[in-house]
Amino acid sequence: MTSDSRPPASRPRRPSLFGLIRSGLPEPPPPVDDKLLQELARQVEEGAKRRLGRSLALRLVDAGSCNGCELELHALQNPFYDLERFGLRFVASPRHADVLLVTGPVTRNMREALERTCNAIPDPKWVVAVGDCAATGGLFSGGYACIGPAEAVVPVDLAIPGCPPRPQQLLAGLLALLESSEKPGRR
Ligand code: SF4
Repeated sequence: MTSDSRPPASRPRRPSLFGLIRSGLPEPPPPVDDKLLQELARQVEEGAKRRLGRSLALRLVDAGSCNGCELELHALQNPFYDLERFGLRFVASPRHADVLLVTGPVTRNMREALERTCNAIPDPKWVVAVGDCAATGGLFSGGYACIGPAEAVVPVDLAIPGCPPRPQQLLAGLLALLESSEKPGRR
């Protein structure tokens, strides 16, 4: 018999040992074709070395995203994918970047920051719209706080669709970017 006379619904919940043991990943990680991923990353590394003489440096601007696209971009460097081993890295300063990644629809408050970041990246540079929102405005199109897709503010070289795009799609997009820039007449 318990001394607490309150009905069960109004008693504060205590963490149970069973609950603590069972906490953790709510679902298993998605299946990843590691061989394909490694091959894509290796081709990106080789393409960057041919085009730039070194590995690729990425600068990200979140122009107003829900952060879903950032999670996938950050996954490129987590221990699960670990793609920094192929030289792919994010840099803090746009002065050190080759590629500007833009996520989210461009909000009015982020317009100037996006323009200034793009202008600060030395040539040759590429701009990639990551995810449906940056590519088309996505589900925020027409919203009072949004200007539109990334190309409404900066010149976009490539759009990678998806909501959000997975790391494999991100790598395939970067590879397509490098390959297209190696063709005659491109930057
Ligand atoms: S594309 Fe999807 S995941 Fe990416 S910012 Fe838009 S709503 Fe979020």
